[in-house]
Amino acid sequence: MPEGDTIFRAATVLRRALAGRTVTELTLIAPKTSLAASRRTVVGGTVKAVESNGKHLLITFTTDGEDVVLHTHMKMTGMWHVYRPGERWWHAPSKARVVVRTDAYVAVCFTPPIVELFAAGEAALHPLLPALGPDVIADGIGNEYKNEVLFLTSVWPWTKVRDLDDRTLETILVTARDLMRRNRDGGARRTRFVLDRSQRVWVQERTDRPCYRCGTPIERGYHPGEFRKSWYCPSCQKAPRTEAATPA
Ligand SMILES: [Zn+2]
Repeated sequence: MPEGDTIFRAATVLRRALAGRTVTELTLIAPKTSLAASRRTVVGGTVKAVESNGKHLLITFTTDGEDVVLHTHMKMTGMWHVYRPGERWWHAPSKARVVVRTDAYVAVCFTPPIVELFAAGEAALHPLLPALGPDVIADGIGNEYKNEVLFLTSVWPWTKVRDLDDRTLETILVTARDLMRRNRDGGARRTRFVLDRSQRVWVQERTDRPCYRCGTPIERGYHPGEFRKSWYCPSCQKAPRTEAATPA
């Protein structure tokens, strides 16, 4: 029975074999495919990321539009194998539910109970994935959510992901998912739930206006090589003491 650490090792092997390579075949038997994902063509794209989370294994593919995520859950029976092209498989091909083929390797998932394909933007709303890996979730969080979530979690926008402890990272992901769920019915996006609907966000595009928590004027800053800006409260979201750099 595969445990989380087994899946983790499988993810490492799959990542080494597949990451960055062009997909020449993607065969899925009876997958659950979201409408957004069904509109994307994976073959011809590349394998962008391979991550595991408990018994969930996630492979992200680049496409001509939004990235697509393949989710397999191993439960008791599923297993991923990696073969060279032409190599004989350990199990009958009829037991394969997923085949990801590149020029160099063939990755096969035998008898996983769950095979799903969804667009990266839908990952954060997925009911089964308690806390997706940061690579996947980052694709699903727009800039406004990013700014609002970092305010709500008191994280300085220039903090590197590797400098966040696990607990903070999880809080960020859970907060983002919660906000996206609360906004899934459409309408003006809200991250702040007060009676006055003109006060629907905490920091986004509120340059020089007072922070709703502490009154400090909200600031705007830039990230090198990125057009997306950050709005933040310099009092509520202080830079870590070890971080000497200041936003441009
Ligand atoms: Zn503040």
